[in-house]
This record gives sequence, structure tokens and C-alpha cells, in this order.
Amino acid sequence: MELIFERSKKGHRMDLFPALDVPAAEGLPLREKAPHLPELDEVELDRHYGQLEKQAFGVNHGFYPLGSCTMKYNPAVNEIATSMKEFTDIHPMAPEETVQGCLEVMYRLQQLLAAITGMDEMTLQPAAGAQGEYTGLRLIRAYHLSSGDTKRTKIIVPDSAHGTNPASAAMAGYEVVHVPSNDKGGVDLEGLRKAVGEDTAGLMLTNPNTLGIFDPNILEITRIVHEAGGLCYYDGANMNAVVGRARPGDMGFDCVHVNLHKTFSTPHGGGGPGSGPVGCKAFLADFLPHPIVVKEGETYHFKKMEKSFGRLKMFYGNFLVILRALTYILMLGRDGLSETSAHAVLNANYLMKKLAPHMDMAYPGICMHEFVMTLEHYKKETGVSALDVAKGLLDEGMHPPNMYFPLIVHEALMAEPTETENKETLDRAAEAFIRVFEKGRTDPKSLHTAPHTTPIGRPDEVKAARHPHIRYDFGEQHDSEINIS
Ligand SMILES: *Cc1c(COP(=O)(O)O)cnc(C)c1O
Repeated sequence: MELIFERSKKGHRMDLFPALDVPAAEGLPLREKAPHLPELDEVELDRHYGQLEKQAFGVNHGFYPLGSCTMKYNPAVNEIATSMKEFTDIHPMAPEETVQGCLEVMYRLQQLLAAITGMDEMTLQPAAGAQGEYTGLRLIRAYHLSSGDTKRTKIIVPDSAHGTNPASAAMAGYEVVHVPSNDKGGVDLEGLRKAVGEDTAGLMLTNPNTLGIFDPNILEITRIVHEAGGLCYYDGANMNAVVGRARPGDMGFDCVHVNLHKTFSTPHGGGGPGSGPVGCKAFLADFLPHPIVVKEGETYHFKKMEKSFGRLKMFYGNFLVILRALTYILMLGRDGLSETSAHAVLNANYLMKKLAPHMDMAYPGICMHEFVMTLEHYKKETGVSALDVAKGLLDEGMHPPNMYFPLIVHEALMAEPTETENKETLDRAAEAFIRVFEKGRTDPKSLHTAPHTTPIGRPDEVKAARHPHIRYDFGEQHDSEINIS
């Protein structure tokens, strides 16, 4: 496909601005050369973006079972709310009393998320799940330091945690101690008992974990950590499996983050904007980043917490993501939310049961919202890898599941169908998986070269990440072509 600069034809343009009808300002420093902008008619520009859109694959194109990162359908009603100019056309510096409605949106979401997670207070500031984790760790750190406890330098992270957990702990200045999983995919309790001690600042638990398993020993886990004097952080990015049914606050956790751009329905991907609100129990609330929104009488105010560890993000977090989450929660209501998690779990188990006769499951048994297949034996038999199968699924018109994650499962494919898919879609998806598995057994070569139907097939992922070529090279002669006169 042509790049926009290749499509550009000198002199083609569209007029968006009216002609200047006021005196031109004198003495402003003007650039000498016009910037390199593509020159296109409006319809050509529209077609360019239309074509680009066709090259991408989203939930609105087909089935998208990407495990660990809830890529679910986001109801259109959210977009109606977030395009209202009463929300979009305000200035972040507008005085509190002129934006009471926006403060109410934030306040109500704080309250609802606190109720959903079983926490006492909430900050909406973090712009991502990982930033939420960092926030939680800063709360834990501030708490220990406030009681003069400086020995606690370690954070315990089970090996089935999301990769951001150890990364956030390291960023917050902690040493990471890993504990292994047991053969059922839960935290190994003996390993945990050995790992805790006077230097334990806390534990971060992804639950359900990246194997799609709800740890049945969760109460024992938080007890062990608390007895050692540590605090417990719940990575709630996988809340899609438990929302409306179980609350981290009731399981002994002191703080938690949720991902609004997963569970609470903001389009996810492309680097944002996201939102990872953090909730905590009352004894940690004084350390929260500021501001949070409070209600006094009938008015809403921004409040700075007394021992706040500072600010995480400019202004108030990603406001429109917050608004989407509120819309989503209010549209579903209490019963709707718990129905959501019921369907998320049911759909994952349904797909897993359909695929189990055709592929090894890493942890057979009941899963939560996602499940992990292991293609280790399959690859030994056929030479076809998890990558090959993922590429083959593209030719079936669906997005592949996550590959090679979690790291503790070899040749992993991790699938999360989400709650919005109906039985017919799941049946079709199961047939597609089974067709590709069979193709690997009968015609492995064709999978080594898949996909055959997409605009690009197997880009060099390392090169794309390390040496991205994202700037158009105009060449020198172009520079002298345009002069502003
Ligand atoms: C997605 C995810 C995160 C990180 O969230 P980001 O918004 O991508 O930073 C953390 N933990 C789990 C379990 C996740 O699925």
C-alpha cells in the first residue's frame, strides 16, 4: 500500500480554514520553509485511512481471543457518552465549581470501583495497569517508611504473574523474589513460606493468574504475607473473570489495580490512552497520589491527601476512559456485571472443552476467563510451532491467541474468548483451531509459510521493535522545493 507521502500530489488540497479576514499579525517569527505535509484531496485522504484500517485487525473485524489482555467488545453507548461536548470541550484548568459534572463522574467511578474491589479509597490517576502497580508499590513503601520500617526491601512475585509485576517492583526500587507455581498452577505455599521474612515489603499476586487459574489458597497466601509483616497487592487486570462475584478486599488484599481498558470497556491497544485506577484500604489512603475527588454536602472537590507520595500524571488521569468505565458500569448494573464474568468464564471453558480432544491443555480442569494450550508435544510430532499455528489462524480470519506466554508453559497459546461472543462464534472458532491443528499434522509445510492471505506475513519482530523505520525519508532535493514566500 502506498504511504501517504507517496500518494501526495503537489497542489492537491482541501480547504478547512476560511480565508484570512483580519489583518495579518506583524513581527511573528515565521518558519522559512513550509513543513513537509502530504498534499491530498479530502476523498483521497479518507481512502488512505480507509485502506489503513483494512490492514489492521480489531474486535470489530472478527474473533479476537488474545489471552491475558482482555480485548473485548466495547459497547457503542460508551462512545455516545464520551463524545458529548460537555465532557470533551472543557479545560483541565477549569475551576472546580464550573466542572461539577465531571467531578461527579470521577467521584461516582471511585465509589463504584471501591465497591467492586472491596477497597475504601480509589485513585483514578494511573494511566495504565503497570502505572497502577507502581502506585500500589509506592503506597506499600510509604506505609512501611511511615512506621520507620526500613528493612523491607523485597517484593514477592509468583512466577505465574504478569510480566509487568516484577518490572514495576524493580522500578519502585524493590528487589524481586520469585516463588514457583505448584503442579496445579497456583502459588507453591511452601515456597512462599520460605520466601517471606523481615525483609518482605509485600507480595504482588496476579489473580486469576496468567494461567487462567484462580488460586484456591488465596486466603492462606495473604495470611502468610501479613504474618510476616508484608502487605498484599492484587493485580486486578484480570478482573473480567471475577467482577461482581469476588472482591480482592475480601481476600485479604490491601491494594489493587484494575484496568479500565480491559475489564471496563475502553478500546485497548495502540499504546493508549488507558487507565489503571488503584484502590486501597483506609490505612493506606493518606498516601494516595493527589488529587482524589471528595464530596462535601452537595458539591465535589479535589483533595490532596495528607501524606500523599505525589502526583503520577498531569491533571486527573485519562478522563474519557474514566467516563467510558462509568457508562459501562451503569449500563450493566450490579446483575449485569456479574453476568459478564459468568459469561467470560463459561465461554473460556466451552472453548477449552471443544479444543481439549485436539490439543494438550497446560492445566486441564476448570479455567477462569482464559486457558493455556501447550504445543510442546505437537511440535515434537509435527515440527509445527505455536507461532506457525498462530500464523495459520490468521488465514482463518481470526486474530490468534497470545503466543509464548506465560513463559512457564512451553509452546504456549493462551486464549481468552471474552463474554460477548455467542455460541455460534465460539463453534466457528473451535472449528478453525481444529482445522489448523489438523493441517499441521497433514501438511506442516503450509503452516511454516502461513499466513497466505494477509497484507504482510512474518515481519522481523525483533527488527521492528529495535530498529523501527517510522520516519519518511524525503531526500535532500525535496527540501529546497518548497519556500514560503
Ligand atoms: C495487561 C496487564 C497488566 C498491565 O497493564 P497495562 O495497562 O498494559 O500496563 C498487568 N497485569 C495483568 C495481569 C495484565 O493482564
